[in-house]
Amino acid sequence: MADTKVVLVTGASRGIGKACAIELAKAGYNVAISYAGNDEAANKTVEELKALGAISKAYKFNVADNEACQKAAEEVLADFGHVDVLVNNAGITRDGLFMRMNSENWEAVINTNLNSVFYMTNALIKSMVKQRYGCIINMSSIVGIMGNAGQANYSAAKAGLIGFTKSLAKELGSRNIRVNAIAPGFIQTDMTKDLDTEKIAEHIPLKRLGQPEDIAKTVKFLAEDALYITGQVIGVDGGLVV
Ligand code: NAP
Repeated sequence: MADTKVVLVTGASRGIGKACAIELAKAGYNVAISYAGNDEAANKTVEELKALGAISKAYKFNVADNEACQKAAEEVLADFGHVDVLVNNAGITRDGLFMRMNSENWEAVINTNLNSVFYMTNALIKSMVKQRYGCIINMSSIVGIMGNAGQANYSAAKAGLIGFTKSLAKELGSRNIRVNAIAPGFIQTDMTKDLDTEKIAEHIPLKRLGQPEDIAKTVKFLAEDALYITGQVIGVDGGLVV
């Protein structure tokens, strides 16, 4: 019998990442999660994943730190044996109009949302090539496609992920590694908790914000069913970008 599949989801102590981890545990995966500092949330997520029957462990490290990513990837490979699916999900916002944006807020967002994806993918790609299977899912955003006032740093990082996704898909297709991105619209998590949700919903064709589970189901589709899909950006946004 084939080994149980393993997924590593970055930023999975809460929000979208947590929902992805749970959805894949329900699909029979063993699940490694990463997080930045929220021990309580991460431990709770691991308990929930174990209750679903998954082997699960949380790894605390900063995805914006290349060395820490390399070390964590080695630990995950040692603990789980292999990684079949990598969900590059961890991300932050440091919003502000460009005229007032300092380089610190620019770099924090680029390092955490874009450079991190290079670090994590770089740390795991050799093992995927060796096992002749891999699925990489990068969490972009609709603002990486359409831009957003007050989010020049975040939009640049999320647009960068799209170019990265398409290039890598072309490089790695022959190795049976698929690389796709998801572009969520407004999803109800801590990241969006201060927004006026009623007002936003008025502008969304489906008239509601998304739930983390809406993204998680797409992640599961890309991991499990979409075996002929690579290099794509899947919009999960209630119809905001058409
Ligand atoms: P969230 O609720 O704020 O959760 C962020 C997660 O990332 C947490 O697990 C956090 O860990 C982790 N994290 C943050 N900085 C990190 C770092 N430097 N190193 C390691 N882990 C780090 O965010 P979310 O709304 O679920 O968003 C998840 C992804 O979807 C992000 O990439 C975001 O840009 C993208 N996205 C979200 C929306 C939306 O509307 N929510 C829309 C489009 C795209 P701790 O718990 O330890 O802090």
